[in-house]
Amino acid sequence: MNPPTNPPMLDTHAHVAPDVTPAQVNALGNAHVFAVTRSIDEARLVARRKDTSLTWGLGVHPGRPDALDAYNAGTFTRALNYFTLVGEVGMDRRGDRTRQREVFDSILTACTNRTVLISIHSTGRAKDVLEALTEQPHPGAILHWFNGTPDEIDQAATLGCYFSVNAAMPAETIAHMPVERLLTETDFPSSRRKTQASKPGDVQAIERIIADIHQTDARRLARTNLEALRRAAGL
Ligand SMILES: [Zn+2]
Repeated sequence: MNPPTNPPMLDTHAHVAPDVTPAQVNALGNAHVFAVTRSIDEARLVARRKDTSLTWGLGVHPGRPDALDAYNAGTFTRALNYFTLVGEVGMDRRGDRTRQREVFDSILTACTNRTVLISIHSTGRAKDVLEALTEQPHPGAILHWFNGTPDEIDQAATLGCYFSVNAAMPAETIAHMPVERLLTETDFPSSRRKTQASKPGDVQAIERIIADIHQTDARRLARTNLEALRRAAGL
């Protein structure tokens, strides 16, 4: 009899080159990776890829002025037909708040009644992101690397948001998040030293942190939580 294979690690937010080869994808090993993009143009390059271990995202990174400038609601909505993941999108402390909000609002409108998950960036603008989600909640919302206050975490949880967390985040922040809403991520390649991720999909460090906090099998937890989220989002 073969020994049972370990379930794949789950990385719900990482950056992968759009021209990654099948051999390179294989080298990621036993992991399922949400590969987000930063612009509609970048997403176009991956729209027709058929990678079984990667879920590609349609993104407009709020910290990228070029991506915000190129944003167009019609183009985004048409591109959505090729994706079950939107990301990364949201708001960022750098750049024009009004334009970021306008684009994020428009993206949330485009995602209304669409069966997608949304990986949301909120660095330095957690309050604005929560305001946008309060006006247009979405059942597939995942707050990635959310560094809001405990009150903001509670508010996000009430809105139904999930939290994708990594090993660079303070353990107290992670401990405050509802355990049934936790997902694991690397945000590879950013802050590699702090996230301790050697490659996209390498969530072992954050799994250890979650296991310490909750005395549970973090890999199984993340998979169970993702299944619940997918059901909530109609996927
Ligand atoms: Zn990212």
